[in-house]
Amino acid sequence: MLAGLGHAHLFVLEALIKRKLSACRVTVCTAELQHVYSGMVPGWLSGLYSAQDLSIDVAALCARAGATLLPHNVIAINAAARRVTLANGEDMEYDVCSLAVGSMPSGLQLSGAREYAIPLKPLQNVERIIRVLDTREIATRGVCVVGGGLAGVEMALAARARLRANNVEDAVPITIVTRDATLFVKRGERLREQLETACARANVRVVSNATLSAVREQSLLLDDGVEIPSALTIWATGPAAQPWLAASDLATDDAGYVLVNDALQSVSSSAVFAAGDCATLQTAPDISKAGVYAVRMGPMLVRALHDALQGRAPSVRYTPQKRWLALVSTADGRAIASYGFLSIRTTWAMWLKDRIDRTFIARFRNAGA
Ligand SMILES: Cc1cc2nc3c(=O)[nH]c(=O)nc-3n(C[C@H](O)[C@H](O)[C@H](O)COP(=O)(O)OP(=O)(O)OC[C@H]3O[C@@H](n4cnc5c(N)ncnc54)[C@H](O)[C@@H]3O)c2cc1C
Repeated sequence: MLAGLGHAHLFVLEALIKRKLSACRVTVCTAELQHVYSGMVPGWLSGLYSAQDLSIDVAALCARAGATLLPHNVIAINAAARRVTLANGEDMEYDVCSLAVGSMPSGLQLSGAREYAIPLKPLQNVERIIRVLDTREIATRGVCVVGGGLAGVEMALAARARLRANNVEDAVPITIVTRDATLFVKRGERLREQLETACARANVRVVSNATLSAVREQSLLLDDGVEIPSALTIWATGPAAQPWLAASDLATDDAGYVLVNDALQSVSSSAVFAAGDCATLQTAPDISKAGVYAVRMGPMLVRALHDALQGRAPSVRYTPQKRWLALVSTADGRAIASYGFLSIRTTWAMWLKDRIDRTFIARFRNAGA
């Protein structure tokens, strides 16, 4: 049972196609029938990519892997009984279950957020963002992006690039609202400075130390009474765990993510594995929820599942890398390459990002084709 088609499960389906996984009956449960690759999402918004460029057809991939696709999300798991419940009410039994269901945007319980903001998960929501950005109403009230992390900054810069391509003047406000004192701080001063410079060049305003008290149809309300007009509010807050994980009988960390050992196996149920954002490694609980890790976990998960299906204890030991190269698109033909505390903004970095992203998509789109 593969719950969700996160990055790591793409590797599992590829392994099935290549017959690198023990013969078994595989069921994939996910309501999202296109896997949208997040690294290319800002480029989709800016107009660099079409929806097709960054999507993998889930049904076609499952068919090539010989897996049965059930187009429903999982809403509950009972590990003791080895059963999952699907959103359509169906109850399914499994021998081995692997979870790659990602995360959801945090803070959506704020008043008006679900009604008036567009969250970045599911990623298909970008279609709605594009539709609104392409309307005239934008010209009067502008755009707000809630969240000053890398995704928030990339989306704000991409929104400006799209508006410029639509001949909308830079006077139309784009505002990043963050509760932190500055934009993304985790990778040091240099990256932060470059993000700020990119925002200044794109006429993207940053409102920091801001606490939101409500999202309204045409504005954001801060707790100090300030109201920021917004015809489009993009919700780009950090990740949160899906609540049904902590509500299950699986061991989870304090934030509600499934706690796994270094073989990506649940610490409380040997028949359950988890990878990507939905999992927290007991040996490295502080690594970021990032696609880079979700991808690296893929081949490890394949080996761990192979062992489990053979009835063996998992032989893999996944050690996440401490540093990774982040490539942040500034939507002007350049990207910032950031490694550790080093950071440089060049066209070369954008070329590299485009190449890595397109290669990833092509690998799974063509697997077994
Ligand atoms: C705009 C944006 C840009 C980003 N850029 C980068 C980047 O450049 N580099 C980077 O490292 N990280 C980036 N990230 C973070 C990255 O997207 C996540 O860390 C990554 O997608 C997590 O991968 P995953 O495989 O765990 O889950 P996901 O890729 O989120 O996949 C989860 C899948 O499971 C499905 N699913 C969800 N819930 C259920 C359920 N209950 N039942 C069944 N199926 C379900 C979903 O529909 C989805 O198909 C970005 C995020 C955003 C929003």
